[in-house]
Amino acid sequence: MIDQTLLNLLACPKCKGTVQAYGPEALSCATCKLAYPIRSGIPVMLIEEATRLG
Ligand SMILES: [Zn+2]
Repeated sequence: MIDQTLLNLLACPKCKGTVQAYGPEALSCATCKLAYPIRSGIPVMLIEEATRLG
């Protein structure tokens, strides 16, 4: 699970809002309804890499 301190440092690249853990290998932005993948422990905060939440 991703560290809360790291989460606080991260922002959604689209709306600059806060992100939250979305399962063990993704972060989500509730505002944009996007999920950003975590690859090898590194959050990939790129709109192009995000997947839309259902
Ligand atoms: Zn967002």
